[in-house]
Parts: sequence; structure tokens; C-alpha cells
Amino acid sequence: MRTFDYLRAENTTTAITEAAKPETRFLAGGTTLLDLMKLNVERPAHLVDITRLPGLDTIEISPDVIRIGALAKMSKVAAHADIIEAAPVLSESLWRAASAQLRNMASIGGNLMQRTRCTYFRDPGAYSNCNKRNPGSGCAALEGINRNHAVLGTSDACIAISPGDFAVSLVAFDASVLVRGTVERRIPIDDFYLLPGQTPHLEHQLSSGEMIIGVEIPRVAALKQSHYLKVRDRASYEFAAASAAVGIEFESDGKTVRDVRIAVGGVATKPWRLRAVEDALKGRPIDEATLRTAAAAAVDGARSSGRNGFKIELTPKVVARALMTVGEISHDTEERFRT
Ligand SMILES: Cc1cc2nc3c(=O)[nH]c(=O)nc-3n(C[C@H](O)[C@H](O)[C@H](O)COP(=O)(O)OP(=O)(O)OC[C@H]3O[C@@H](n4cnc5c(N)ncnc54)[C@H](O)[C@@H]3O)c2cc1C
Ligand code: SF4
Repeated sequence: MRTFDYLRAENTTTAITEAAKPETRFLAGGTTLLDLMKLNVERPAHLVDITRLPGLDTIEISPDVIRIGALAKMSKVAAHADIIEAAPVLSESLWRAASAQLRNMASIGGNLMQRTRCTYFRDPGAYSNCNKRNPGSGCAALEGINRNHAVLGTSDACIAISPGDFAVSLVAFDASVLVRGTVERRIPIDDFYLLPGQTPHLEHQLSSGEMIIGVEIPRVAALKQSHYLKVRDRASYEFAAASAAVGIEFESDGKTVRDVRIAVGGVATKPWRLRAVEDALKGRPIDEATLRTAAAAAVDGARSSGRNGFKIELTPKVVARALMTVGEISHDTEERFRT
């Protein structure tokens, strides 16, 4: 059995100071961290419990921005009436994550910091070869059962999925991660997560001793007409096979796209913004055919590792269907969009 110290921090200064020690982890809801400690994947020497820190569980909505504290519970944000009204995609991406019990425990900060669900990563007893857990050891998934692995943003060192749903909606809408350490800084969410490259053990831009204190989402018009579509092996309590966070703002004619936001999850090594698809749609009137043609670019550069090849076919369908739903464009659901 491994022992560890436990400290319940009363204020952020103490939390940050303690967290600068080597082998320290913040403990929020514990729904990821404690699992990984039991699996011997995470082996911290010190835990800093941040659940009682004051002022970090707020949800503030101003005309320009939505600000959500890192300790706000997933369920509280998902059910917040003003979030549902102003930014459906944020609420939907949280409702479709995990289970009711988990959402009641889990925090927004912990959600952004969750680790991959790659089976080989989570089983150190059986698989030593995981570059993310054990740099330089190889990747068991490349030749293994990789149906749930990424097709976008992969490298020959790691093909693990970035599993979170909420982060996908944040990436679509240019959110920032608010961070407090010795100084405060804000990191655009698209820069916050790192591609695996040859260093898959480096997943994000946080340094030791830095804590997420919240996220900030600009209130662009497309956020109000937004949607999160999650396709998965079962209807609830399951990670995405492919998902899309989308939002559209139309010109006054109600057909021409003024602004569109698209990101996909469940298929990439980090939440994946689809700027090429967005550019193909901006300034154009859209219908089913236009959307399907544009959505094909969603998988530009995608690479199958074997069993996950179906995601290359699935992803454009998910993107097109999400856009048709949010754009209220009639389509042939039975034949073409059976996702
Ligand atoms: C069975 C199961 C199914 C799930 N399904 C889904 C799903 O479908 N979609 C989805 O998105 N998620 C899913 N999850 C993941 C779940 O959403 C996360 O476990 C949860 O959001 C983590 O939040 P937490 O507060 O419990 O974090 P913790 O477990 O406390 O922490 C997780 C990590 O974040 C770090 N951390 C926590 N707070 C901060 C902070 N403020 N600043 C810096 N670091 C911090 C911790 O040190 C730790 O490394 C699932 C989890 C389980 C167990
Ligand atoms: S895909 Fe990444 S996390 Fe999974 S075994 Fe390979 S290196 Fe490890």
C-alpha cells in the first residue's frame, strides 16, 4: 500500500503553495483521481483537498461573458436556467457526461483535467508499454484493441482520446481557462491541451502549483443557438464514440451563415476545432447538401489505427446532423444520418 499526505486547504494561497511540492495533486470531486490512485496509475505523495475553497463554485452571466468557477459541480452548471437559455451547448455537454451521481460530485476544474480512458493506460499491472504513463515504453494500443481511440491529432507515440465532453463545447466557443499560481493567467482553451507528439505524458499547459479557478466563455450570438450531439454505444453513462459541439448565427434572411462554431470530441487526442468546416460554411446559405459536403472536411488528416476506422465515416455525419438540428434544417434522418 502507498501512503500519501492529505491536507484540506482553507484558502487558495495555501492550496497553491502546497501544490508546488513534487508529486502533489489537487483533490476536487475525486471521481477521476481516486479511481486512478486505486488503479496505481496516479501515485501522488500529497493530496491537497480544494473542495472547501471559498468563492470558486460561482456561475456568473454578464452581457458579454459567462464565468464558471472551477469548483462548480457539473450538475449545477448543467441545470442552471440562465446557462440553458444563453448557452445550451454547455448544459447539454454536461448532461450527457457520466451519470447523475458523478455529475453531483464532479467539478468543472476536475472535468477539464480528467485523464484518458485508454484501457492500456489504466492497467499498469498488465501493460507496461504506455508512453503516456511510462515515457519511452511504447504504445500498447497501436497494435491492440483500439476501437475507442483517436483518429485525429494522433502520433506514433500515442492515439489516446481526450475524453471530456464539456471541453469540446468550450473549444468551439473560444473559452479561456482561468489559472492561479504565483501569478494569474488566462489560457485559450485550444492552447490549454497539448497534442501527444512524442511527449504524450505532457497533456496540458498547467505548471505544478497552478490551479484552475474557472472558465470564461464569450457570449457570441452563435452560443445562444447551439447544441451538443453525442453519439455513443449506449444512450447514457458512456463516453462519446463521436460528438459535436456546434452553434450558428444566421444573417437576417435566416438562411445565410454569419458565424458558425464547430468542435468534435471522442475522435481526437484533444478537443478538436473544425475551422476548415466553419470557413466553408460562413457567408453561405445552407441546406442539407451544403452541410454534408462541408462536413466531409471534418476528418481531413484522420488516420485509422485499425478498429477505430469507423470514426472516420461517423464524424462527418455527426457534425452535419448537429448543424442541421441547431439550424433547424430538415433532413432525411432515416436514410442518411443514422448515427
Ligand atoms: C464511470 C465514469 C464515467 C464518466 N463519463 C464521462 C463522460 O461521459 N463525459 C465526461 O466528460 N466525463 C466523464 N467522466 C469523467 C468525470 O466527468 C470526471 O471524473 C470528473 O469531471 C472529474 O471531476 P472531479 O471534480 O471529480 O475531479 P478529481 O477526480 O478530483 O480530479 C481530477 C484531476 O483534476 C485535477 N484537478 C481537479 N480540480 C482541479 C483544479 N481546480 N485545478 C487543477 N487541477 C485540478 C486533480 O488533481 C486530478 O488530477 C466519467 C467518469 C467516470 C468515473
Ligand atoms: S494510446 Fe496513449 S495512453 Fe493508450 S497505451 Fe498508447 S501511449 Fe498509452
